[in-house]
Amino acid sequence: MTRNPDDIKPSLRSDVTVELVKHTAGDSDVLWAARVSTAGEQSLDELAKDPERSKGLINYLMRDRHGSPFEHNSMTFFISAPIFVFREFMRHRVGWSYNEESGRYRELQPVFYVPDESRRLVQEGRPGKYVFVEGTRAQQELTGRVMEDSYRQAYEAYLEMLDAGVAREVARSVLPVGLYSSMYATCNARSLMHFLGLRTQHEMAKVPSFPQREIEMVGEKMEQHWAGLMPLTHAAFNANGRVAP
Ligand SMILES: Cc1cc2nc3c(=O)[nH]c(=O)nc-3n(C[C@H](O)[C@H](O)[C@H](O)COP(=O)(O)OP(=O)(O)OC[C@H]3O[C@@H](n4cnc5c(N)ncnc54)[C@H](O)[C@@H]3O)c2cc1C
Repeated sequence: MTRNPDDIKPSLRSDVTVELVKHTAGDSDVLWAARVSTAGEQSLDELAKDPERSKGLINYLMRDRHGSPFEHNSMTFFISAPIFVFREFMRHRVGWSYNEESGRYRELQPVFYVPDESRRLVQEGRPGKYVFVEGTRAQQELTGRVMEDSYRQAYEAYLEMLDAGVAREVARSVLPVGLYSSMYATCNARSLMHFLGLRTQHEMAKVPSFPQREIEMVGEKMEQHWAGLMPLTHAAFNANGRVAP
């Protein structure tokens, strides 16, 4: 097979994509689920009543960690990010569904991650007490150059095997974790809050976490979408120290 050189040249990205593709999620979903305790089948009729009480109820549920009313909603995100982000992401087992593109059934595209200038490059301290500081110009230049060279070499090796008739599932072994992948991830507000508590750093967090910056970038974008859909729940999450109920 003759390949167009432009098609095999690695394309480099420093960002992540998070699109909200589908949702049934609103603060009212928390309210009707919670009010069934006292109002039974009339809980739906109570929705429009007294917004201040609704806000107070959501805050009470969050504070006292009555978590199940936050599960009656659904958000599906399309995410494009490096494989090392997905590897961390899929450790979140509860309240999440995933489907990812396949390296067995399709030829993987040469899209790779390089950190941009905002990404702090140098780690100082000891495990559990790391801080990240900016690298020097020379470290930034080296990182970009070495990554690009390595990606090009790996992708050429991948194509060499494919062109010789080796199966995609075998040839992909040479590709690095900086390769972009894509997936759909579906969650509910409770499982998203648990994810955000662990995968974002935030001044309002009662229990600080120290996630890798690249998964945090995904978390921040998911949080923006969610905050627009469920503003009262989002505000209560922040007000109560960003601990999932
Ligand atoms: C900063 C950071 C560093 C990390 N470093 C490492 C590392 O070095 N190595 C590594 O392997 N992982 C690491 N992880 C991943 C971490 O150990 C968790 O696997 C990941 O954060 C998912 O959390 P979770 O299990 O609470 O989430 P979920 O799988 O979504 O589970 C949600 C909750 O359900 C309950 N639950 C789920 N499964 C079980 C079970 N089997 N038994 C009992 N209760 C259960 C727990 O209460 C759990 O908190 C790291 C995570 C973070 C945030």
